[in-house]
Amino acid sequence: MSTILNFLKENQDSITKTLMRLTRTESPSHTKELVDQCGDVLKAEFESLVGGTVEMIEKKEVGNQYKFTYGTGDETEQILIIGHMDTVWDKGAIPIKQDGDLLYGPGVFDMKGGLAITLWALNALREKGVQGKRKVVFLVTTDEEIGSEHSKEIILEEARKSSVVFVPESSISPHAAVKTERKGAGQFTLNITGVSAHAGINAWDGASAIEELAFQIIDLKKLANREEGISVNVGVINGGTRVNVIAKEAIAEIDVRITKKNQAEKLARQIRNRPVFVEGTKVVITGEIERYPLERTESVIELYKQLKEIAHTHGYDLGEGSSGGASDGNFTAGLGIPTIDGLGPQGDGAHSENEHVFLSNLPYRAALLAEIILKHIH
Ligand SMILES: [Zn+2]
Repeated sequence: MSTILNFLKENQDSITKTLMRLTRTESPSHTKELVDQCGDVLKAEFESLVGGTVEMIEKKEVGNQYKFTYGTGDETEQILIIGHMDTVWDKGAIPIKQDGDLLYGPGVFDMKGGLAITLWALNALREKGVQGKRKVVFLVTTDEEIGSEHSKEIILEEARKSSVVFVPESSISPHAAVKTERKGAGQFTLNITGVSAHAGINAWDGASAIEELAFQIIDLKKLANREEGISVNVGVINGGTRVNVIAKEAIAEIDVRITKKNQAEKLARQIRNRPVFVEGTKVVITGEIERYPLERTESVIELYKQLKEIAHTHGYDLGEGSSGGASDGNFTAGLGIPTIDGLGPQGDGAHSENEHVFLSNLPYRAALLAEIILKHIH
């Protein structure tokens, strides 16, 4: 058995403690003060477990972000690991509890478990005295759950300097498969303006924004294509003021998903260039496709093969799968940098009250990450 795995298994209790400390410091995306406290804990853990360099990126609207660096390799290309410390949970919303091998709590699976295994993977490399040609950058952001508006730039900037990107986001349940494919995603808003009029007295003078909205919804739905993996969902609509008034305004919010990067431009164009169905109404569209898909390219398959081989030496089979959800890994994949996602520990229930991880799996995932880094660091 691998010495790295052995070392990490011996440290399972300490890995659990790291995860506990990160989980207890709750960090809802919208509460900067709390996220910053979690950042303090994360920094302290990094300093004691890894001890490389720490750079804090101050943020006003969201929690401060961190760029941790392990090693001093002078190769220009680095290895990048990206994670986020914010969670979808308000403080106290769900309890933290341990039940045998299971740890329940806010963010344990998405993705404080992933942060804990990364810290310990780097700790294992340090203990083994590994110094490679490349340095390892561990970038931890604070707004992934609310769209990554304040971190997209730094993620792209670090990705451009990287030969490979590992994302220890939650794995695919129940067997902790990694994600070799993720859909791309975008959001658009349709603002429709009509002409209001009294529905009885001068019904023919108005132009109903709601009627136009109805036509738009049907028309937008035609852009979806199941075979090609393009989905279009009008998830929110709003409009009108009174039953006897022809509606002046209506709004629709639209979520789109794509599976190939080359679908993005055409779809965005089709959404923006709306025909108008009801004479007298106007349609204004805002929004964009924010995240390109993480495509299962040759280089992604190669990374998966390497991981699968490592898993075999650890005595288990590692599966792969795709996810309809997007993560920050979509940004790096969108640049064409080989990215593998879902490297976090085994667990389930992201964004649900059932959120949990398997503690005995933590050393395995930390070892998997440590050894894939080893393959790329030299
Ligand atoms: Zn996440």
